[in-house]
Amino acid sequence: MDSRLAADLTGLPDLLTAARDYAATVLDGLPDRPVAVPAPDVAPAPLPVTGAGASGALAEFRDRWAPGFSGSAGPRYLGFVTGGATPAALIGDWLTGTFDQNAVTRQDSSAVDLERETVAWLRELFGLSDAHTGTFVTGATMSNTVGLAIGREWLGEQRGVSVSRQGVGALGDIAVLSGAPHSSIYKALAMLGVGRDQLRTVQLLADREAVDVAALEEELRKGPAIVVANAGTVNTVDFDDLRAIAALKSKYAFWLHVDAAFGAFAALSPEHAELLAGLDLADSICVDLHKWLNVPYDAAVQFTRRRDLQVSVFQNTAAYLTLPSGDPDLFHLTPENSRRLRALAAWFSLAAYGAEGHREIVTRNIAAARRLGGRLAEIPGARLLSPVRLNVVCFGVDRDVPALLAAVASSGEAFLTPTVYQGVPALRAAFSNWRTQESDADRVITVLRDLLT
Ligand SMILES: *Cc1c(COP(=O)(O)O)cnc(C)c1O
Repeated sequence: MDSRLAADLTGLPDLLTAARDYAATVLDGLPDRPVAVPAPDVAPAPLPVTGAGASGALAEFRDRWAPGFSGSAGPRYLGFVTGGATPAALIGDWLTGTFDQNAVTRQDSSAVDLERETVAWLRELFGLSDAHTGTFVTGATMSNTVGLAIGREWLGEQRGVSVSRQGVGALGDIAVLSGAPHSSIYKALAMLGVGRDQLRTVQLLADREAVDVAALEEELRKGPAIVVANAGTVNTVDFDDLRAIAALKSKYAFWLHVDAAFGAFAALSPEHAELLAGLDLADSICVDLHKWLNVPYDAAVQFTRRRDLQVSVFQNTAAYLTLPSGDPDLFHLTPENSRRLRALAAWFSLAAYGAEGHREIVTRNIAAARRLGGRLAEIPGARLLSPVRLNVVCFGVDRDVPALLAAVASSGEAFLTPTVYQGVPALRAAFSNWRTQESDADRVITVLRDLLT
């Protein structure tokens, strides 16, 4: 054995303690760490020939790389939709690497059963029935991709062809309909050979990002389609009327995929759960977990009612005519073959805090968003562009948006991201971190006021 490797094996408990102490220091300083810093230029180092051992690597990481890392796991990183990692989720993540299970089959480990238990917990959390099965993937983009791949197979079933065997060319025209789809939907369509141009955006309701269901119905009259409904758009967190869309299924043939990447967590807020009425009727559903569940990157779940079609697409057997039956091994369900036990961090957080603990995070984040939205009126030149429907504040300013955002970021106090809403350059502040308090919203107001007045 390489001498450094041998020394690290002997010294493993001490090395883990050193790593633990370092992590504790980092986490302790997180609320006060500059939220986002422009990435410093770090000169690339040559490949080490003889390494430095784990403690040397830790020292080098701490000195060369860690200073440029953002405080994105902290309370005032409000860009995109970004969660942190609850204490229990972090422990679960550490233990994922510790056990290093290849979580795909029950042949040698109960890890797959832990994933199934976690999926069942999540299903209940989001109010889904057990008609839905679920599988872990890396993020909402991959969850959307899997859902749309199953939808593509369903479209083949309608037309008497098997896309997974004959290819997407066998399908002919493919209609994908959505009101205000996330960019990842276009990416998924590109990956799936459907093509970005096949997405037909459907008329929205006035002053909303929710689809006009009557306009959608007009499109559905033209023949079988894949509908991507949105439960929580990134700009204004608008929700399509899922119940009304699902009701159209009695009249028209379509695959209903719902992108509920972070909007699914509205189910935890009694005041907002109604926004998701009808979700269970979807054929496939995307929910991100590294956003509002606050587990570390990367984790999401995808649900579907048609696992048979899912297996047709993703099965990984040489003899392709004998499909796996019963509860298939997990490499028959998603693009990955080998995979980490991604569910463990989610399992830990749910075991530690339960539905109530996670409800408290969601409702506290919503309260913080409302506070920021409410106090914007105090700042001359700032105005809400949409009501605060859930956890995102979308607002405009009488200033150059990129310059203002850069100034906010370099204050170290907060990080927000830009958007364009109804043709207007705008800012978004998205609340989804377990550490965030309403006082953090006040700190954002203070920075904005200082910069804008
Ligand atoms: C974040 C997001 C995605 C993409 O999620 P990733 O985890 O970054 O792949 C897709 N849809 C919606 C609505 C999102 O908010």
